[in-house]
Amino acid sequence: MQTSSPSAARGAALITGSSRGIGAAIAKALAAEGYSVCINYIEQKEKAYRLVEELRESGATAIACQADVADPAAVEAMVSHAREELGRITLLVNNAGIAEQIQFQDITPEKWNRMFSVNLGGCFNTIHCVLPSMLSAHDGCIINISSIWGSHGASCEVAYSSTKHAIIGLTRSLAAELAPSGIRVNCVAPGVIDTDMVQVLGKDTLDMLAQEIPLRRLGRPEEIADTVVHLSKATYTTGQVFGVDGGFII
Ligand code: NAP
Repeated sequence: MQTSSPSAARGAALITGSSRGIGAAIAKALAAEGYSVCINYIEQKEKAYRLVEELRESGATAIACQADVADPAAVEAMVSHAREELGRITLLVNNAGIAEQIQFQDITPEKWNRMFSVNLGGCFNTIHCVLPSMLSAHDGCIINISSIWGSHGASCEVAYSSTKHAIIGLTRSLAAELAPSGIRVNCVAPGVIDTDMVQVLGKDTLDMLAQEIPLRRLGRPEEIADTVVHLSKATYTTGQVFGVDGGFII
């Protein structure tokens, strides 16, 4: 029965960009922790609904919702739908993101703006929508997914790296502002994680990268999810950035 399930105790988690990759692993881990979860996607409807099915079969409460996180109206509609179906969102994970390997002089204003609208604007849009209910409850947890390129420079990823630096700034400043309201804001900075996003680099480059990583392998999406679960419970931790990168940045 839904009312006696652990989901009722934990509340609802919205994970943006959770139809696949790191977001899907986070959604699975949070569902296993007893959250009811809202899976967000932009294009891959089939993958999102397959994940919902899988989670429901395991006894979790899950819904899927299409929304471009860069679109404030779409995010508002998604958050209201999630609230109607799952109740108050107590945990928000801003994971949706896009990346592109491109030299700086080839970045058009449109590409630059889209990168910022999705990676940074997406965080703004979701936080704006979930914050009022977190403030009223004097309780809430926000986890933003940045990158190792959010604290170090990345050749041919200037736009991506700039958005990921900004996400760390957003995390720290918002954490300072919201701590007195009982809301924690933290950040995870993954290294090279084996998902669709990095396949564009090709096998040879990925193998080479793996050899440069002190732990000598790429990360698994589940290893990012483990840190998100930890942060969801870390009640005295806010404004922090957690590197999960196999020692890439020490
Ligand atoms: P991925 O495999 O490319 O998956 C991206 C996810 O984001 C998909 O669920 C996709 O939905 C969704 N998405 C993309 N644009 C969206 C939008 N405008 N609105 C809503 N959803 C959108 O990426 P990933 O590797 O799992 O990365 C997840 C996060 O981790 C990103 O923020 C990324 O920057 C960060 N990260 C990844 C790595 C890495 O090595 N993989 C390293 C550091 C940081 P659809 O399935 O519908 O397309």
